[in-house]
Amino acid sequence: MKVQKHLLTTSFEELESFVAATGQHGFRTRQIYEWIFRKYTVDPDQMLNIPKALRKSLTAGFIFSSSIISAKTEAPDGTVKLLLSLADNEAVEMVLIPSGSRMTFCLSTQVGCPVQCCFCASGEQGLTRNLKDYEIIEQVYHGIAQIGRLPDNIVFMGIGEGLLNFENLVSALKVLTDPARLAMSPRRITVSTSGYVPGIKKFAALEKPFVLAVSLHAADDATRARIIPDKLRFPVTDILKACDYYHTKTGRMVTFEYTLLKGINDRVKDAVKLADMARRHHAKINLIPYNQTRPEYQRPVESVIFRFRDILDENGIAVTLRLEKGTGAAAACGQLRARKLKKTAEKPGS
Ligand code: SAH
Ligand code: SF4
Repeated sequence: MKVQKHLLTTSFEELESFVAATGQHGFRTRQIYEWIFRKYTVDPDQMLNIPKALRKSLTAGFIFSSSIISAKTEAPDGTVKLLLSLADNEAVEMVLIPSGSRMTFCLSTQVGCPVQCCFCASGEQGLTRNLKDYEIIEQVYHGIAQIGRLPDNIVFMGIGEGLLNFENLVSALKVLTDPARLAMSPRRITVSTSGYVPGIKKFAALEKPFVLAVSLHAADDATRARIIPDKLRFPVTDILKACDYYHTKTGRMVTFEYTLLKGINDRVKDAVKLADMARRHHAKINLIPYNQTRPEYQRPVESVIFRFRDILDENGIAVTLRLEKGTGAAAACGQLRARKLKKTAEKPGS
C-alpha cells in the first residue's frame, strides 16, 4: 500500500504533479497552496474556488488532518492549553501564551520523552514515539484556529526532546520558515534541548538563525546528575563547546534555561557559577521556577528565587524570570497528558 502524504508536507512540485495527473490546470496548485499557507485551510472541502472533482481527488489522495483537540484549559492570565489526540489515540499538548498583543505557541515534538529528567511530567513514562513532521505542524494550525493568525513566536518547549527527533523537527521547521509556505522568521522560533550535544551540532550545521535554548539546570556535572539521568546526559563542558559552535555557525546567542528546584540547584554558589558561565559563553538565562508535578521536588520560596535572579542581574547577565504564567492551565510541560494517562490507568475496575 502506498503511504499517503500529508498536504502540509507536500512540496509545490509534488502537488503540481498530482494536479497535472488529475488533468486539471496548473494554476490550481497555486490556489491550493494559498488555501493552505495563506488562509490556513487544509481541508480540501473548504477550498471553495477549487473544482469539486479536484477537491475529491485531494481528499482521497492526501492526509490533511490527523489530530483533534480533546481538551482545552484556560488560565486566568489568558494562557490556553490544548490537549491533542493523535490518529493512534496518543496525546500531546500545546500551549498558547499571550503577552500583551503578542502570542507564542509552545509545541511538542515527541509523545513522551526518553531523557526523563527527574522533575518533568513529560518523561515520567519514557518515550512512546516521535511525532511526525505533519503532527508538529498541525499543532500550529490548531493554534491558528484559536487566534485566527500565525503566532509571533514559536517555542519547542512542550513534550519531548526535539533534537532526538531531528529529521521530523527540521522538516517541520522548513515548512514553518519557507517563504512559499508559512514564511516565519527563524529568529522567532526557539528550539529547546536538554543538552543533547550531537543534536546541537547538527542543528548548528544548518546555519540558520533559529534561537537555541539549552536546559542547563546546573553549572556543574554533579548537580546536573541529580536532575538528568545518565543515559542521555552530556558533560557540561561538551554542552558549552557545542553552544559556542552554535554561536559561531549561526551568529546567535544561546539561552540557558534553568529550572529552579528547592535545595538542589538554588544556592548562592550555583548562581555565581552560572553567572560566570553565562558571561564566558555570551548566554542569556531563562529562570523557570519549578511547577510542582512530583511531591519529591519543590519550587524554592520567592525570596530565594529573587536572590538567584539578582545575583545573575548584578553580574551583568541578561536574565528573564516568569513567575506564574500558565500554572492554572497545568502549565508545566506534559502535565495535561500525564493527567490523561493517570485517568486511563485508573479506569479498569474503578
Ligand atoms: N526537552 C526539551 C524541551 C522541552 S522541556 C528541554 O528539556 O529543554 C522545556 C523546558 O521546560 C525545560 O527547560 C524543562 O526543564 C522545563 N520544565 C519541564 N517541566 C517543568 C516543570 N514542572 N517546572 C518547571 N520547568 C519545567
Ligand atoms: Fe524531556 Fe525536556 Fe522533560 Fe527533560 S525536561 S524529560 S528533556 S521534555
